[in-house]
Amino acid sequence: MDYLPVFLRLEDRRVVVVGGGEVALRKAQWLLKAGARVLIVAPTLHADLARYAVDAALTHRAGEFEPSDLDGAVAVVAATGDRTVNAAVSGAAAARAIPVNVVDDAELSTFIFPAIIDRSPLIVAVSSAGHAPVLARRVREQIEALLPQRLGRLARFMGRYRAQVQSALKPAARRAFWERIVGGPAGTQVLAGDEPRAQESLRRELSASRLTTPPDARGAALGEAYLIGAGPGDADLLTLKALQLLQQADVILYDRLVGEAVLERARRDAQRIFVGKESGERGQQERINALLVELTGRGLRVARLKGGDPFVFGRGGEEVEVLQQHGIPYTVVPGITAALGAAASASLPLTHRRLARSVTFVTGHQAEEAPRDWQFFADPAHTVVFYMGVAQLPAILRRLRAAGAAATHPVALIERATLPGQRVVRGTLADIEAQAHAAAVAAPALLVTGEVARVAAAEALAALSPAAADVPA
Ligand code: SAH
Repeated sequence: MDYLPVFLRLEDRRVVVVGGGEVALRKAQWLLKAGARVLIVAPTLHADLARYAVDAALTHRAGEFEPSDLDGAVAVVAATGDRTVNAAVSGAAAARAIPVNVVDDAELSTFIFPAIIDRSPLIVAVSSAGHAPVLARRVREQIEALLPQRLGRLARFMGRYRAQVQSALKPAARRAFWERIVGGPAGTQVLAGDEPRAQESLRRELSASRLTTPPDARGAALGEAYLIGAGPGDADLLTLKALQLLQQADVILYDRLVGEAVLERARRDAQRIFVGKESGERGQQERINALLVELTGRGLRVARLKGGDPFVFGRGGEEVEVLQQHGIPYTVVPGITAALGAAASASLPLTHRRLARSVTFVTGHQAEEAPRDWQFFADPAHTVVFYMGVAQLPAILRRLRAAGAAATHPVALIERATLPGQRVVRGTLADIEAQAHAAAVAAPALLVTGEVARVAAAEALAALSPAAADVPA
């Protein structure tokens, strides 16, 4: 380890920055964030630095660097871009035993600035010891993506209860308690911005912990459920929130539409339970509901992972009712619904100023029911996306024709949208059935009707994925 990462308290301490350009500005901004009294030494100032000086947020001494500038300073940053000046600063700092950072010059520095993730009071610092700042920044971005925006609030929330918990619980029980706050309903609620409810959860957790001596971290835990949209298939289309919750779920109940690529993003040791409709008999939804109640009742964090969005043809509404009836804490995480995923990956705009002014998502089973909407669906300036439409294709086409749609009405079928092997079959009301047959289009697929279907690019994904290019479309 070339450097020891430490966090320096600079509140009200003097730090000198030599140099007045953009690099100096960035360093000065971090120092000001940490509450330092900043003195800038430079003949001229960047406009933003000048503004700080005018506002008295920092002090400016116009002129060349002199060793006496370091009087009373606890640290110094050289950001002049001139190695002779930087070396002079470094030498003067060494003479006074003050830590010095020379920007982009590890040799002249005794400390370096890390790449920072600021979720104050929680701070993550990443460094490559000056070897590869771009790589360090990249790592920071990757970590940043995994950290919820409200993490700082969670840290403060926990800080507020520290003393109370300290006096209420024996030392042996505390750590398990805090683990349950971070990884349980209270944590989820703070991160969702609901602090009143989080307070309630924390109090419940605290009284449960007092009554029982939990044998392990999960002993007295309150369970909770996450209703997560897994998106259309491409694991990179998961939301950040979906990833965060998948990382902490103990059990995952997943559907047929949720692929291995998505499951791989979940916690390694999470238990996976397949609950796809094809796995069984009728009454599968009842089984899922019962599992949600039973597993959360055992104090587990259960992720109910559904293809696309949980509230678009996903029966998420029914599951939420069950959770509410049983008073189980839950969070719903939206996902990219198949229509939106398919639109993007097939380059098919669902609305378009010249081609379509509205869009409807409808289940293919509609073909058997509700006759009243079909005239609207038959308007080529209206886009209709039929989910679960493959088996119903002949019935849907018949309905559209009966409602007045022309034989030339554009239609597209998008199979396995966003997944390797995606296929787009384009045609018209008159010929799509024969085409679908010839290409053996199978579920999961979407049927899109309306003028926009004409612009669907069969090549869009083929260009990206060699696997897709091999399949006839
Ligand atoms: N909740 C899901 C929809 C579930 S219904 C969502 O929001 O996307 C299942 C239907 O979704 C399938 O029959 C198919 O029509 C559609 N579907 C889901 N994933 C798909 C994909 N990757 N490509 C094409 N259609 C898909």
